[in-house]
Amino acid sequence: MRTLEIKTTSSKYPVIVGPNCLQTLPDFLKNRMNQLSKILLITDSTVNQLYGDKVLHLLMDTPYPVSKFVVESGEQSKSFQQFIDIQTYALQEKLDRKSLIIALGGGVVGDLAGFVAATFMRGIPYIQIPTTLLAHDSAVGGKVGINHPLGKNMIGAFHQPIAVLYDTLFIKSLPSLELRSGFAEVVKHAFLKGESFLQELISIEDIEMLDESHLAEIIYKGIEVKAEIVGQDEKEAGIRAYLNLGHTLGHAVEAEMGYGKLSHGDCVAVGMLFAFSLSEKVFKVDLNYVKIKSWFKSLGFPVVIPDNLLTEDLISRMISDKKSTSGQINMVLIEKPGSVKIEQFTASELTNFLESWREE
Ligand code: NAD
Ligand code: MG
Repeated sequence: MRTLEIKTTSSKYPVIVGPNCLQTLPDFLKNRMNQLSKILLITDSTVNQLYGDKVLHLLMDTPYPVSKFVVESGEQSKSFQQFIDIQTYALQEKLDRKSLIIALGGGVVGDLAGFVAATFMRGIPYIQIPTTLLAHDSAVGGKVGINHPLGKNMIGAFHQPIAVLYDTLFIKSLPSLELRSGFAEVVKHAFLKGESFLQELISIEDIEMLDESHLAEIIYKGIEVKAEIVGQDEKEAGIRAYLNLGHTLGHAVEAEMGYGKLSHGDCVAVGMLFAFSLSEKVFKVDLNYVKIKSWFKSLGFPVVIPDNLLTEDLISRMISDKKSTSGQINMVLIEKPGSVKIEQFTASELTNFLESWREE
């Protein structure tokens, strides 16, 4: 079990990673939360079935009354309706400003429960207990929110958790598609960090064969990268945008396919490949693109954009991305692992690059 401290301008909190670290929850609450009135545990239907009772029993060992709210598993739960239903439940259960929310689940539960915590009575504390590999990314950094029918993650807030307890035993039950999806974000963190983390990952041939300690190690290192960036730029005024590596095109592919058709990580993987290829052309560097591409392929990631998606539709998605500015598309590029640069492209420049990359 290892602990990492996240320090942002607004707060400081521990991220604990390792098998069985869930067991530290009651002590953490007793030591850190002496004035707690009530706890609301929020989870999804799949995670509830697997781990709901386990966590509930642990919380029963604390002096605090606990209630539980279960949402349907899946992205559709990051909605206004669920948001209101949980707020209503919290009011009925008489939660107050001294109450605590615990998010048990993947990024969906974390974002939703975190947004409830950010807004209930103008903000109450919450703890993240991530259960997916992807949530090594989403549980850290304090971005919380829900989807609007007109766009994903459009409504939200910055609200840092008071702790993240990442029990790596949860990952055992994760379906392989979800495991791969989360692994794409680990790869992203490695490219942002540098050669040695990247080489450690490239030696992995099968994500599902990772043993417990290796998994905990790469999760820890991934979180370390995110922590460093978020620590310097909590509200995305600058370098936090580096975390968008692979996401400009990735988000466009995800949306054009229709959400849920391809996993987020699969789309980010394709997006990263394009970013690497573009980086090689723009900076005239060698990022071992061919090797990375065949490694991605062997892990099961898609390495090309589905033929039925039109380049012009993808480009117009990229222009309307909330991260692009004044009609230019911002792309996060890599000069070498650990050395990141944001470059701006016009729609027609990027169209040419994307077209020729798709024809390769
Ligand atoms: P998810 O929460 O929907 O989990 C994926 C699936 O796995 C769900 O069906 C869930 O029920 C199931 N599951 C969860 N844990 C399990 C376990 N241990 N065993 C078996 N099944 C399990 O999705 P996700 O990929 O974790 O997160 C995606 C969400 O995260 C998106 O909404 C995205 O916008 C958000 N996100 C947020 C941030 C952020 O900074 N806040 C960053 C990245 C992604
Ligand atoms: Mg992502």
